[in-house]
Amino acid sequence: AIEVVDLYKRFGELEVLKGVSLTVKAGQVVCVIGPSGSGKSTLLRCVNRLEEPTAGQLRVEGIDILDPEIDVDKVRTRIGMVFQQFNLFPHLSVLRNLTLAQRRVLGRGKEEAAEVARQNLERVGLLDKADAYPAHLSGGQQQRAAIARSLSMNPDMMLFDEPTSALDPELVGDVLDVMRNLAGSGMTMMVVTHEMGFAREVGDDLVFMDDGMIVEEGNPRDVLANPRHTRTQSFLSKVL
Ligand code: ATP
Ligand code: MG
Repeated sequence: AIEVVDLYKRFGELEVLKGVSLTVKAGQVVCVIGPSGSGKSTLLRCVNRLEEPTAGQLRVEGIDILDPEIDVDKVRTRIGMVFQQFNLFPHLSVLRNLTLAQRRVLGRGKEEAAEVARQNLERVGLLDKADAYPAHLSGGQQQRAAIARSLSMNPDMMLFDEPTSALDPELVGDVLDVMRNLAGSGMTMMVVTHEMGFAREVGDDLVFMDDGMIVEEGNPRDVLANPRHTRTQSFLSKVL
């Protein structure tokens, strides 16, 4: 589980997170929506310590990950993150992209890392692209490869920051299917997305953020059909 308690983040004068609290229970999918600049990415980046919160508490599987004694690299290997930009290494084959961190960070041997990589490529429907280079894949295939790379580290949970926003519309569905299957397999997930259909069907919980705060939260179907706050209503009227 991920527990965020009264989290604050400030960049200089700019307060970007103003007391955010939320819980993602084991096996649950929490989707986060909200306007540009509302702090969604900053929140995700705090969860795997890419950003240092100014105040508040963050627990992952009950462990205080803001504890200065904690090994941040170890925390990060347990929390997979997938970004809008796929960040594959262009000079490495898909397979090498998937084995690199397994070998360097987890110390897996070549054969084991390759076997884990192939299992995860199969899971995202890309086994036939193992020897291809990223430039020869479509954006959707690159994003699925990036997801398979994260999964190859055997994370306990996955964070997604607008994973389909950079994709051509016809490629979005395949990536969402992979994420839907992942959710079905019981992965704990936090997903920043503009895909309201995905949020409605796959999300256990939907969080609407605005101006560094959670304005509204609840069952995705309820929030999307009957938003209670005017700010949620106004946002949804623009995106639905
Ligand atoms: P979007 O939907 O456009 O991705 P977002 O909700 O993810 O927006 P964030 O990226 O979290 O928003 O940014 C929230 C605010 O924090 C913005 O005003 C942004 O300019 C600011 N911000 C983010 N990162 C930094 C940084 N490293 N330094 C200074 N300001 C930052
Ligand atoms: Mg963002």
